Amino acid sequence: MALGRSLRNVLIIDSGLPCNIQTPHSHNFITQDGEKPDVIAAKAKAQVLSYDTVKFHTGLAVSGKKNEKGFEIITQEGEAFKAKKLIFATGIKDIMPNIKGFSECWGISVIHCPYCHGYEFRHQKTGIIANGERAFHIASLVHNLTNSIIILTSGKADFNAEQLAKLNKHNIKIIETEISEIEHENGYIRNVVFSDSSKLDFTAVYAAVPFTQHSDIPFTLGCEITEQGYIKVDNFQKTTIEGIFACGDNSAMMRAVANAVYSGNLTGAMANKELTNEQF
Ligand SMILES: Cc1cc2nc3c(=O)[nH]c(=O)nc-3n(C[C@H](O)[C@H](O)[C@H](O)COP(=O)(O)OP(=O)(O)OC[C@H]3O[C@@H](n4cnc5c(N)ncnc54)[C@H](O)[C@@H]3O)c2cc1C
Repeated sequence: MALGRSLRNVLIIDSGLPCNIQTPHSHNFITQDGEKPDVIAAKAKAQVLSYDTVKFHTGLAVSGKKNEKGFEIITQEGEAFKAKKLIFATGIKDIMPNIKGFSECWGISVIHCPYCHGYEFRHQKTGIIANGERAFHIASLVHNLTNSIIILTSGKADFNAEQLAKLNKHNIKIIETEISEIEHENGYIRNVVFSDSSKLDFTAVYAAVPFTQHSDIPFTLGCEITEQGYIKVDNFQKTTIEGIFACGDNSAMMRAVANAVYSGNLTGAMANKELTNEQF
């Protein structure tokens, strides 16, 4: 939007697979709290496309190359688009564990973030599928929302003595038995089933899952990646390659629509500033 309003010609190439596609309601983005993700996205799309300078192309970008004037992006359909600057707002892909029922519940009752969905599951029987530092961090945040928490490590628990003492103090049990299935109805969890056939009923489960970048084009163009797997950017969303920016989930640990909007807004202004500096 910042670029469109600055009369820069913008082409958005989008394959239409955002990470929150399965979530019934998106929370914690002021003015849109509780709205369906696709409604927020449709409104955003309509607003940016009301500027003549912004065009939308449905498709998957599969490769990119640098040339003297800027960059060229090629789509799966073989189309080629040239641009002076590139902005990657490509997000990340969550890697679902091999647990029956897990992916069907993802974003509905198996959730990643207490800020996004914790309030809706307040005071409910809650599991945390994670281990070590990550599980401890989630437990400490979720404890304020419910006092019924069990950590499910699905393998040997990995906590230090101090962490164990705190978990114990707050009556947070740890179960190490391997998880074999999540029983659910339309994505709403009923039971976690363990490898010894025992079951525990939960209303919600937090899960820390690994991720991969949605697009590898930034890296084939030479952008550096951080140790945690994010595209490396500076305070102005510039990657380590001149002329390439990144924003949203692909370059930030704090995963929220409001943060993606903020970093996108900043990126628009910074890309416009670069173009301005080159022309003025
Ligand atoms: C299950 C779940 C629930 C969530 N719930 C909330 C919530 O309630 N509140 C909240 O604030 N946040 C929530 N989030 C976080 C929020 O959805 C993200 O922070 C936000 O969507 C990030 O926006 P993004 O544009 O960076 O990435 P995405 O929304 O993932 O969008 C990336 C887009 O880039 C496209 N793309 C990727 N690669 C290519 C390519 N090569 N060519 C063309 N297009 C490409 C994708 O198709 C997609 O449309 C949730 C996340 C998850 C996973």
